[in-house]
Amino acid sequence: MSYHVNEKGYYGEFGGAYIPEMLYPNVEELRQNYLEITSEASFKEEFSSLLKDYVGRPTPLYFAERLSEKYNTKIYLKREDLCHTGAHKVNNTIGQILLAKKLGKNRIIAETGAGQHGVATATVCALMGIECIVYMGEIDIERQAPNVARMKMLGATVIPALSGSRTLKDATNEAIRDWINNPTNTHYIIGSVVGPHPYPDMVARFQSVISEEIKEQLHEKEGREEPDYVVACVGGGSNAAGAYYHFLDNEEVGIIAVEAAGKGIHTGESAATSVLGKAGIIHGSKTLLMQTGDGQITEPYSISAGLDYPGVGPMHAHLYTSGRGEFISITDEDAMLAGLELSKLEGIIPAIETSHAFAIFKDRPFKNEDVVVVNLSGRGDKDLGTYIDYFNL
Ligand SMILES: *Cc1c(COP(=O)(O)O)cnc(C)c1O
Repeated sequence: MSYHVNEKGYYGEFGGAYIPEMLYPNVEELRQNYLEITSEASFKEEFSSLLKDYVGRPTPLYFAERLSEKYNTKIYLKREDLCHTGAHKVNNTIGQILLAKKLGKNRIIAETGAGQHGVATATVCALMGIECIVYMGEIDIERQAPNVARMKMLGATVIPALSGSRTLKDATNEAIRDWINNPTNTHYIIGSVVGPHPYPDMVARFQSVISEEIKEQLHEKEGREEPDYVVACVGGGSNAAGAYYHFLDNEEVGIIAVEAAGKGIHTGESAATSVLGKAGIIHGSKTLLMQTGDGQITEPYSISAGLDYPGVGPMHAHLYTSGRGEFISITDEDAMLAGLELSKLEGIIPAIETSHAFAIFKDRPFKNEDVVVVNLSGRGDKDLGTYIDYFNL
């Protein structure tokens, strides 16, 4: 059994491209070209050279000695927090902007909620000198002022989405409308393994550099390429997809996905998508999503803006329903405590998204000799205000 995408764009029963007729030419152009372009030698060279000299890859695989001692197992941290811009997201935006250039596009659009993907997109547009339009809900613009300032400083135009709840979902609608109106010169950079095929597969491939490096680095440190477990937090699922990618079809490697339980799975205020979700269609993809009995999408909640998404990528929906992945939900409180613990034990302040992944060790025992790799998806600088308020620091 393979856990990768099939020729039709599905992971098991999930995935596909459920899009309006008017968007078909744009998505079809991508679908027909992404594999060919990304496997060209000139693309690969430029991609890996930028990952090396601009992003700062390979990111270290660090043996966390004090954390390992505390939880009686061998814990390695894959340091995506050391990437330029502070998280894994830039791996994908670099890949997509190179692809856009090869497709002859001279205008980039994106949507953003917390602003992290907007910043990663604005960054690569500045790098390439390409026009960048970021759609963002009016409410999110107020809540995420520092990221809005970053995007503007990087030369992007931030357009507020004024309809509906004025958050991510509305920004996505605006971006789709823009793409329909500008089918020839514009590429839409989606920030996670979500959206219509080929986006989930394309983004997973760009992020797969994470597991490619883990294999090499683990071989050096442990004499074997495969860990016993790979752990990652899941919002849309891109850092997790990248960390799992080269281990997906090797069932000896345990895959652990950590979702945000918010105030508790059954409080009505969570983002534990796979546990609470039912099959449905969101952003052009069939996947698990949180919805009411009559199919209305439920507003997600998490203290971390990056995990606050009502759906999950189709790869993860398949990992969940097939039983290949072990899914664990972590509350705000446990995530915050785990973030504080990592800071004190290892001198690394993680993004709150990432803190969720570290919170599993409290209740999920591992064997002494297990090698557990945690994908440290991002750094906590952007979350200092939240940590300070939460702990009265
Ligand atoms: C955006 C973000 C996430 C969530 O997105 P995925 O696509 O699930 O990876 C996780 N961690 C950090 C640091 C992020 O910025």
